[in-house]
Amino acid sequence: MPPTYKVTELLGDGIGWELSNAVHRLAEALPIRLDFEAVDLTLENRRARGKAVYDEAVASVVANKVALKYPTITAEESPNAVLRRRLDLSVIHRPVTTIPGVPTNFRRELDLDIVRIATGGTYDDPGRMIGEDGAVSLRIVERRPVREAARYAFTLARKTGKRVTSASKYTVQKATDGLFQAVAQEVAVQFPEVPHGTELFDALLGKVIMAPEKFQIVLVLNEYGDFLSDMACGLAGSLGIGASANLGFDASGVVRVALFDAAHGTAPDIAGKNLANPTAIFLALVLLLYQIGEIAVAQAVKNATLDLLRRGVRTGDLGGTESTDSFTAAVASEVTERLAAPVLS
Ligand code: NAD
Repeated sequence: MPPTYKVTELLGDGIGWELSNAVHRLAEALPIRLDFEAVDLTLENRRARGKAVYDEAVASVVANKVALKYPTITAEESPNAVLRRRLDLSVIHRPVTTIPGVPTNFRRELDLDIVRIATGGTYDDPGRMIGEDGAVSLRIVERRPVREAARYAFTLARKTGKRVTSASKYTVQKATDGLFQAVAQEVAVQFPEVPHGTELFDALLGKVIMAPEKFQIVLVLNEYGDFLSDMACGLAGSLGIGASANLGFDASGVVRVALFDAAHGTAPDIAGKNLANPTAIFLALVLLLYQIGEIAVAQAVKNATLDLLRRGVRTGDLGGTESTDSFTAAVASEVTERLAAPVLS
């Protein structure tokens, strides 16, 4: 009996069902069993059932601990915002990788894992005017989410053999960014085998462009993570094929729930046409596989997907001729081959 994992599947709109079919097809090629528990988050069902749909989604994610979410239409509410709030998802992990062959203005290779504190910074306070000519806002840094993000970053580094860089403006924002750096350092001490460096955030941006190979896992406060993610995606030329992990933690800092999703939306213009690129949802699945500890399987899926893109096996949005189905079949067969010959994975 292969190892079996229960996974909540949050079904969405547009290309969502095609992506779900692709994930199921790929899952069949894996040497583990993913037991999907579907919750229907389509707009139609959300409108028909209201809050009950979210109650069901939250209960399922809490019970299974891991979820894969397909894109949903933002109409009356943003399902992402509702789930983030109700599941207390405080950290976002966003890997950004260049894919040789996929067009980009950047000539170097980039392979960054951005671990971003999803709350606080300058984003929790919209600010207020002081008289006519001034405005002020609060910058909020709290120990708990920083500790959670740092533990996640260092655990990821320990699992993958990578290095952690924590970056902020601690020389200027002495209290807030100073607290961030102090907490990151406290956590670093608990992971003595993980190499850890500190950078000023502005210097980091320049260095990532000049020497991207020096950076692997980067731990940052909310807005810095926002800026860095978009810059990195721009450098990688792959805004449309990104995936994220949204993480919630228990009181002892262990991941309590993890929701994985693609960065793109429901693509209504191509829905139902077998044209959707499943790369981002496959990369979201890769993050899920890392989270459940299936490292070799995760690496095989990631390497198979990226290698096919590199070799020109691509869907139309990336200039190729593959359909959702044929690209999925190619990834599934490549994964099977790689897992049969682990040296290639
Ligand atoms: P979109 O990402 O859906 O589409 C933008 C363009 O990218 C379209 O031309 C689309 O065909 C293409 N595209 C997107 N994903 C693709 C894929 N996997 N394969 C091939 N082509 C792809 O963005 P949008 O049009 O601004 O939004 C459409 C809907 O998606 C809106 O209702 C929005 O609220 C929702 N949305 C949801 C999420 C989410 O659930 N995470 C994220 C963004 C947007």
